Amino acid sequence: MGTKISADIGIIAAGPAGLCAAAAAAESGCSVVVFEKAAGPGGAANMGMGPFAVESRIQQKSMVNLTKEKAFRQFMDYVHWQADAQLVHDYIWKSGDTINWLEDMGVRFAAVMKNFPESEQTWHVVMPEGGGIPGPRSASAMNKVIHEYCVDNGVKFYFNTPAKKLIKSGDSVTGFYASGTDGEEYEVTAKSVIIATGGFGTNPDMIQEHCGYTLNKDLFDFMIPGIMGDGIRMAWEAGAGHGRMEMERIGVPNLPGASLGEWPQTTLFMQAGPLAVNKSGYRCCDESVLQNGSICENIIDYQQDKVMYKILSDDMVKYYRRNGMDFPSEVFHGNPAENFDDNMQRAQEQYPNLAFVADSLEDLAEKMGINADNLLNTVERYNDMCDENYDDDFGKNRNYLHPVTGKKFYALEFRCNAYGSLGGIKINHNYEVITDDYQVIPGLYAAGTDVCEIYNGTYYYYFPGNTMGFALNSGRMAGENAADFVQD
Ligand SMILES: Cc1cc2nc3c(=O)[nH]c(=O)nc-3n(C[C@H](O)[C@H](O)[C@H](O)COP(=O)(O)OP(=O)(O)OC[C@H]3O[C@@H](n4cnc5c(N)ncnc54)[C@H](O)[C@@H]3O)c2cc1C
Repeated sequence: MGTKISADIGIIAAGPAGLCAAAAAAESGCSVVVFEKAAGPGGAANMGMGPFAVESRIQQKSMVNLTKEKAFRQFMDYVHWQADAQLVHDYIWKSGDTINWLEDMGVRFAAVMKNFPESEQTWHVVMPEGGGIPGPRSASAMNKVIHEYCVDNGVKFYFNTPAKKLIKSGDSVTGFYASGTDGEEYEVTAKSVIIATGGFGTNPDMIQEHCGYTLNKDLFDFMIPGIMGDGIRMAWEAGAGHGRMEMERIGVPNLPGASLGEWPQTTLFMQAGPLAVNKSGYRCCDESVLQNGSICENIIDYQQDKVMYKILSDDMVKYYRRNGMDFPSEVFHGNPAENFDDNMQRAQEQYPNLAFVADSLEDLAEKMGINADNLLNTVERYNDMCDENYDDDFGKNRNYLHPVTGKKFYALEFRCNAYGSLGGIKINHNYEVITDDYQVIPGLYAAGTDVCEIYNGTYYYYFPGNTMGFALNSGRMAGENAADFVQD
């Protein structure tokens, strides 16, 4: 018959949302069990660098003057107020305190950063385990600390044990079934259940059905193992309404591993100088706006076949080697202009459809399969504008006007990509799961990516760290609210 377990609160998943829900519920004095599909805690956030917040202690010390009020207004205007204003308010108002809470738990943040010049300084980049320079995967150190804090506060974790189905008693949710990969079956009885399974970012069918993208054709994805929409499915089966569903889209070089720093030369292509063209060989934007990954994605999404190329020449590489980057990065290290040609040759050998090296622009266009005449005209016009020191196409900042000249030419394909999905389970601002008729399902809460539907189409990159910030804060609030429900 399997193992029967009972607790005040049963939490499905141990990503940052589930971990913070567990920590908050345990602090409130509840008994808590967490069932996680993977072998350890942290979820997709183990790949990332850090969360968003406003008015944290670190920001105050760093004299960051973004206020909660300003952040709230900026955010709501950006999404045209097409989001639950009360929920966004609570998230932003709580965010600074959540960073302080995590610090008090033992999480160490390396610094609070921007990720491009026009963004706000909201990104609390986590100090990697053992110290050192932060970078991709730093946030795994944060997840480890929260997990240890939960264990110290009596939370019991079951890894390799995915939840399968919610248990209902009348209208209320009173537990769930789970199955261990070792074959052990569990029946968990709980006064309240919190779902935080990270969305459907690795489920091609759900992406197609709910967002209209064909995976690996018009959208690429990090494909974090196990993020299959389980929690959303379980909630819907239990009567939950359908929330707004979209992908957390970013435009990136399509070389596998590039976003994790595995191809250092890609950082050079992401500077404001390299020319951006579409398949027809026409220039498609002021290249300096591409630093904003969401805007970059929107630009790519609009082009023929949803593809964009960035072009560099050896003269431009020399310029960057001498002068450094337009946007020096604190999290992608080294000078990408060093060994650039070798790295590009290696990329071309491994991925001849994504990275291109040629001795002339004609050859480059042929390798890329784009219109050569148009590309030559585009480059000629662009170089003239560089000579005149004025971008008559898009008004790009003069500092970024570097002519595409020299003896060698390089191009990299950029595609629409996604960190994962957003939204699915309908909730109210208390993180209570509700039906399509806005009726609360007693005992059922949800948090993190499974419910994150605040962006209205384009992820708000101007506040870096936003989805991890939402996961931590929504999880924490769901844990607090579930504890109140249990203790009432
Ligand atoms: C490469 C990369 C870098 C990123 N960098 C950043 C960053 O720097 N800042 C930022 O704000 N965001 C970043 N993100 C996004 C961020 O990681 C997510 O927003 C965040 O992890 C969402 O947290 P979550 O707890 O909702 O879900 P997740 O972290 O996805 O965790 C979900 C968990 O649910 C588990 N699960 C799934 N199904 C079940 C089931 N049936 N039963 C039990 N458990 C289940 C999964 O195994 C997983 O552990 C990044 C994402 C990627 C992919």
